[in-house]
Amino acid sequence: TSGERLQKVIAKSGITSRRKAEKLIEDGRVKVNKKKVTELGTKVTGNDVIEVDGVPIEREAPKYFLLYKPRGVISSVSDEKGRKVVTDLISEEIEERLYPVGRLDYDTSGILILTNDGDFTQKLIHPKYELDKVYVAKVDGLLSKEEVLQLKKGVVHEGERLKAVKSRMLSADKSKKKCIVELTLHQGKNRQVRRMFEALGYRIDKLKRERFGPITLEGMNPGQYRELNPHEVKLLL
Ligand code: URA
Repeated sequence: TSGERLQKVIAKSGITSRRKAEKLIEDGRVKVNKKKVTELGTKVTGNDVIEVDGVPIEREAPKYFLLYKPRGVISSVSDEKGRKVVTDLISEEIEERLYPVGRLDYDTSGILILTNDGDFTQKLIHPKYELDKVYVAKVDGLLSKEEVLQLKKGVVHEGERLKAVKSRMLSADKSKKKCIVELTLHQGKNRQVRRMFEALGYRIDKLKRERFGPITLEGMNPGQYRELNPHEVKLLL
């Protein structure tokens, strides 16, 4: 089920429209890995060799970007309410259609990867893919040691069991009754960090994702992005 539809990949190569690519397939003019394919829904990945009339098509090169998502931006490629989305932050000179790998809440800042590589995205967001995602939460309240430990043991929020693989208090301000807690997650449930604190009766003032597997935001400011180098891409896979 992974991969992209054949007609879409042909259209993206720039040789024709989506509609005409469907016709090419139906007319038996398309081969995938040297075999004729006439089925429209066929999924292909970056490794498949696609030929039209015996000539291999140029595939769009996979691109991987690291974005320091600011707060107040949607992790999506469009928004029906017209709010700013993460791809608005990428220069128009980058022509590839990029999609976020997973999501961060509107009010969450931090590390987000954008790519046009659908297989890469599917792999990284799969639950069994246990990449560390490290969050730093500024909490409105003071957690006890036991509560910090409970985040690792697991809490239940709306019938769902949520847990961290690591949790530690980074600092506490007793007079202001606030603290900063670092959580490392493998799970990636919707609004997971906020819900975990909510389960213990706390609200988060600010949330930032500081690390995604081996990748950090070192040297970057909110709103900035850079291309991942091939070594970093390999480290993620
Ligand atoms: N957990 C949250 O609550 N929000 C995010 O954006 C990411 C993880």
